[in-house]
Amino acid sequence: MPSPHDPYVRVRGAREHNLQDVNVEIPRDTLTVFTGVSGSGKSSLAFGTIYAEAQRRYFESVAPYARRLIHQVGAPAVGEITGLPPAVSLEQRRSAPGSRSSVGTVTTLSNSLRMLFSRAGDYPAGAERLDSDAFSPNTAAGACPECHGLGRIHRTDEELLVPDASLSIREGAIAAWPGAWQGKNLRDVLDTLGYDVDRPWRELAAKDREWILFTDEQPVVTVHPVRDAGRIQRPYQGTYMSARRYVLHTFADTKSRTLRAKAERFLTSVACPVCGGSRLRPEAMAVTFAGRTIAELAALPLSALAEVLAGAGAGGEEAARVLTGDLLARIGTVTELGLGYLSLDRTAPTLSSGELQRLRLATQLRSGLFGVVYVLDEPSAGLHPADTESLLGVLGRLKEAGNSVFVVEHQMDVVRRADWLVDVGPLAGEHGGRVLHSGPPQGLAEVPESATRRFLFPGDGGGAAPVREPRTPTGWIRLSGVERHNVRGVDAAFPLGVFTAVTGVSGSGKSTLVGQVLAGVPADRQAGEEAGAGEQYCASVTGLEAVDRLVQVDQKPIGRTPRSNLATYTGLFDTVRKLFAQTETARERGYTAGRFSFNVSGGRCETCQGEGFVSVELLFLPSTYAPCPDCHGARYNPETLEVTLRGLTVAQVLDLTVESAAEFFSGTPAAERALTTLLDVGLGYLRLGQPATELSGGEAQRIKLASELQRTRRGHTLYLLDEPTTGLHPADVEVLMRQLHGLVDAHNTVVVVEHDMAVVAGADHVIDLGPGGGDQGGRIVATGTPREVARSTESRTAPYLAKALE
Ligand code: ADP
Ligand code: ADP
Ligand code: ZN
Ligand code: ZN
Repeated sequence: MPSPHDPYVRVRGAREHNLQDVNVEIPRDTLTVFTGVSGSGKSSLAFGTIYAEAQRRYFESVAPYARRLIHQVGAPAVGEITGLPPAVSLEQRRSAPGSRSSVGTVTTLSNSLRMLFSRAGDYPAGAERLDSDAFSPNTAAGACPECHGLGRIHRTDEELLVPDASLSIREGAIAAWPGAWQGKNLRDVLDTLGYDVDRPWRELAAKDREWILFTDEQPVVTVHPVRDAGRIQRPYQGTYMSARRYVLHTFADTKSRTLRAKAERFLTSVACPVCGGSRLRPEAMAVTFAGRTIAELAALPLSALAEVLAGAGAGGEEAARVLTGDLLARIGTVTELGLGYLSLDRTAPTLSSGELQRLRLATQLRSGLFGVVYVLDEPSAGLHPADTESLLGVLGRLKEAGNSVFVVEHQMDVVRRADWLVDVGPLAGEHGGRVLHSGPPQGLAEVPESATRRFLFPGDGGGAAPVREPRTPTGWIRLSGVERHNVRGVDAAFPLGVFTAVTGVSGSGKSTLVGQVLAGVPADRQAGEEAGAGEQYCASVTGLEAVDRLVQVDQKPIGRTPRSNLATYTGLFDTVRKLFAQTETARERGYTAGRFSFNVSGGRCETCQGEGFVSVELLFLPSTYAPCPDCHGARYNPETLEVTLRGLTVAQVLDLTVESAAEFFSGTPAAERALTTLLDVGLGYLRLGQPATELSGGEAQRIKLASELQRTRRGHTLYLLDEPTTGLHPADVEVLMRQLHGLVDAHNTVVVVEHDMAVVAGADHVIDLGPGGGDQGGRIVATGTPREVARSTESRTAPYLAKALE
């Protein structure tokens, strides 16, 4: 039994996922980094074991009734953990905030700003002081009554509702109306009310057209339906509803996605005329601080907001001084993490997961918690090497406040600065799951088996791939006069037939230039449109003729429900189901491929409707999923599971990793091709049935890339990728780069947004944006071959690139 003063977290017998009965000791109050290739088991140890166990103990202590839940969800497979403090997770892939959250709500800075306006704002003469709630568009007290705090209202007009005015109502002039019986009912009601439903729409009187489309009246009349297709219906009471009312009502209330999408086609959204898009009540908008409304301050980049507050707070009253002081300190932490270009009103869904995690991190610093262990997932994701220093500073302060900081990380600059290193491996899945080293980072030098070692100590025996001679471009796409976000009046040239890396600090405009402007241009051409989204953002574009298609491989999830997975997304599951349908048992029983789907009834388990999980709701706790009590996660009913393919049931096939599946299906070309490309992008460790919701952004991106690679295409493709190395160990990065360079060798063009200098050094061409983020960025600071850019004196990327080129 360790003494209570034992300074270590001691893990005994960890067997979660692929962990092989791991024992490990980690000193508390340290910055500890977990490394290892993708799938080696880092997350299974840091999140699946240590964090999960801390969470389980917490639930047990606050809510004894939660035991039942814990029992169902299952405690982590671990013998014993001692010395474990309570844990806080800032993992990226979990808990995406809702669309109403923003930078201000995630950081809680909005609360403080509201308090400032409530207590220290300048009110119009005679106005009463407002409660701080009155400055929030998300409360009844603050929301603009016209748009309910949304800032936009939906409108419709005659042209949208009646696209073809030559038709009569009977012929379907009112396109917005529902189909089938309901549409006929509305027509019969109008007929009963005395409107001419057989005249072309445009010949009806203006006031009739107005009433039919826009009235808020809902008259009830007795309808005597005429013979319809020989059937006689009884008279009934019919209610009228104008087309606008119907569309708005459907849009706001329907649960059917199809109906909602249909309604949306008849609506345009415009800024709310009452609040002008500020989402707030007029009374709140009449209050100012430093001469500006709360909405104006929330729209400023945080660095500019800090300047305004600093100017106004200093000379003000006591309340203003205290409140601005607090705000400034907290904004300072966010700016320090390289996020000063964000504004408080920026909505959460437009943020990258890296930005979100760093916002949460900044918020934690001010929480005053101590004695906890923070568990983070790759906090350097999306961060320029120039900002790594501040990240380390912030992590250091969390530690100095008396906490332990455990991070899963791939960036060697962070690993080098850790107090303690836990290297897991050596490889993925069943070839990993062991702790190869647990101790100060230098000790890894003595562990030849580790895949991390040669990257941590590049001097001896390896390091980054040797730098090649840059390829020569076969042409150029030239965008001139780009105007989008902070990229203003810029001319950019992207070389064709080569590999280009776009670099720059966070917020400098990389995603804007590549993900929005460049991505928008050929996509519109393909759709056969004259000018579309991308082209609106630039004055002119040349050089596109050489490109046949554009493929944007982003990090958005491959599906939002546990029903989509790797196998369904890549089409592999179609092949699998066909193979099952061809087995002797299936043919005897008359089971078709559909029987082996978990999405339709027939073969699936009906208790969980093929999800394998059921949702468990518990008072005061977030709802959680537990394995289905009937199929225990198998997703299928017992009859379906009686069918086997070379000894495996369809559920067992879904449980195979890509790597084992490649062996199992060798000899089946359709399956082999999909599996080989997944192996090629380093995803051999994923299970075929792993739900889309469990995959990280980087994994989703590599799955998309694999399904692209699997199609053999003719013609010149332009591939765009946003930080494809996220979540990848340097050894995995090498594998991925071989794939991407292979695409270039096959006469395609690849453009990546990237922070990993090993990747940038290996590119043919570099476009460096900056010099800073937000207003301080958006320009092309340097462009050319990696060596040319490394010589730039203005570029913040240059020194790091020069080091990688050595
Ligand atoms: P890393 O964090 O090093 O990339 P993980 O801990 O995520 O690795 O994965 C280690 C192994 O555990 C992999 O083989 C992976 O497929 C498997 N694994 C991960 N999550 C699950 C899960 N929810 N159920 C079963 N196996 C899993
Ligand atoms: P990077 O990719 O280099 O991190 P971004 O292109 O994401 O930079 O951002 C460049 C600038 O554009 C920043 O000032 C950012 O706040 C702004 N910006 C990016 N996306 C949006 C958006 N959806 N709405 C408003 N501003 C945005
Ligand atoms: Zn409004
Ligand atoms: Zn079930």
